[in-house]
Amino acid sequence: MSVEPITAKATSDFIRTAVREDLASGRFAYVRTRFPPEPNGYLHIGHAKAMAVDFEIAREFGGACNLRFDDTNPTKEEQEYVDAIIEDVRWLGYQWDRLCFASDYFEQLYEYAVKLIKKGKAYVCDLSPDEIREYRGTLTQPGRESPWRNRSVEENLDLFARMRAGEFPEGSRTLRAKIDMASGNLNMRDPVLYRIIHARHYRTGNRWCIYPTYDFAHGQSDSIEGITHSLCSLEYEDHRPLYDWFLRELEIFAPRQIEFARLNLSYTVLSKRKLLQLVKEGYVRGWDDPRMPTLRGLRRRGYTPSAIRDFCARIGVAKADSVVDIAMLEHSLRDELNKTALRVMAVLRPLRVVIENYPAEQTEMLEAINNPEDPSAGTRQVPFGRVLYIEQDDFMENPPPKFYRLAPGREVRLRYGYFIKCEGVVKDAAGNVVELRCTYDPATRGGNAPDGRKVKATIHWVSAAHALPIEARLYDHLFTRPDPDNINAEEGENFLSYLNPKSLEVVQGFAEPSVAGSPVGKHYQFERLGYFVVDPDSTPERPVFNRAVGLKDSWAKVAGQG
Ligand code: ATP
Ligand code: MG
Repeated sequence: MSVEPITAKATSDFIRTAVREDLASGRFAYVRTRFPPEPNGYLHIGHAKAMAVDFEIAREFGGACNLRFDDTNPTKEEQEYVDAIIEDVRWLGYQWDRLCFASDYFEQLYEYAVKLIKKGKAYVCDLSPDEIREYRGTLTQPGRESPWRNRSVEENLDLFARMRAGEFPEGSRTLRAKIDMASGNLNMRDPVLYRIIHARHYRTGNRWCIYPTYDFAHGQSDSIEGITHSLCSLEYEDHRPLYDWFLRELEIFAPRQIEFARLNLSYTVLSKRKLLQLVKEGYVRGWDDPRMPTLRGLRRRGYTPSAIRDFCARIGVAKADSVVDIAMLEHSLRDELNKTALRVMAVLRPLRVVIENYPAEQTEMLEAINNPEDPSAGTRQVPFGRVLYIEQDDFMENPPPKFYRLAPGREVRLRYGYFIKCEGVVKDAAGNVVELRCTYDPATRGGNAPDGRKVKATIHWVSAAHALPIEARLYDHLFTRPDPDNINAEEGENFLSYLNPKSLEVVQGFAEPSVAGSPVGKHYQFERLGYFVVDPDSTPERPVFNRAVGLKDSWAKVAGQG
């Protein structure tokens, strides 16, 4: 797997260079782009990259970007997806100029098709979809011409009108361009422009029973909207000759298509079809499951629009496909939350500590720093008392040599508090340590001993009397392999074979009382544990937190910056 280096915010790349040249040469007098999702699923981080390219380039050149729904597939598209996509584009912080629908151009596209028929450049074909495929040939073999290729213009016009009128069954006929069955480019071998589909379209209802293909709709929609640069992913490179052919034959405004590499991210999949399968078959809780690479999943996980945009700027655009290390995405979020998230203390796997020499009825407030990266965030008061919770793994009864935290007879510092020393343990019937008996040194308030004695560890804690019960959801990669998309299908494996069974761990813990009442979406750093965000499943009695990202930056290490 190749890993893309962190680059400075991309200010120049091959697309921007091309746009600049087109303005300089006078090919275009302005810049207009479009982001063209098909409303057949939810947007994912790959779409965020496409949006970064489309919207940012338009903005940089003083142009505009349309949001266009590429909705020419009635059986797969739904209003629900349109609404969700609009919400997600807004959430990411992008503002489109015009909101467009390819389905608004159905009448115009039909007229374009009629024009091609009249020019002798399109014909109605009676081959079945299977026959069309068979006649197309392969990369090494030329295709064969359809027996229907030489119908007269009159007959084609009549049949096409009757296709539209609903006279023929689904799949019985198509409208095809008459180009070149021997072309080295399979897309040029008389591609299908229209197929008969007797299905209700979520916007045009039953008005149509013939629908344009992607190839016939996309470039013409671009042309209708006056798009100058139609930026799309690499898989459309082979379609570009066809894109240009239609515009030339129709003699209409010709935008320029430029392709860039799709984003692939390690340890996840970025295909709507696969993401849909994860949802439909119940491997995740929904499109917004925090493990999903959808924008809704990332948002619920704790990603901010600015962290995602920062990531997109760092990866930039390239012409060759590669896989971006997911650690780089995490790095963008961590970088931001380090500057903005308030620090609090929470304990995820609680172990009870009783401070035997601390008065039972006493409580005191200790001053804690809200964000060492941001002095203006100030300080807060954290309650302290005789009974505390600490993290189970901050104690070992028989510590190995390099374990410096709490152990019998050993003293450690409580963050913002006192030194405590473990004097004894309480065990349950099974021999598990369930409580520590400790003493504290009142002279060490604030964290230092007046006699200068040192401790080797500082641990976090929560006062039991004031603790707020919380649920914490801890996430790992959704897949155990960095390349779940690349599985060789022998042995019956597919991407689902590498789902990570440990991608979610749920624990019940406690947080300091300052986090009570936090709104959904609020971020915190739980000291020593990571960055967390309040989940919509929260109740006033028990907030639920998603761990957005851990504290350790594996990306900075990879990139040699750690
Ligand atoms: P999927 O394969 O996930 O269904 P798609 O390409 O069919 O994706 P569209 O809704 O057609 O999804 O995509 C809208 C735009 O987003 C297209 O211009 C497409 O090229 C771009 N896009 C989709 N996925 C990625 C990706 N992983 N990286 C970059 N751009 C992408
Ligand atoms: Mg698509």
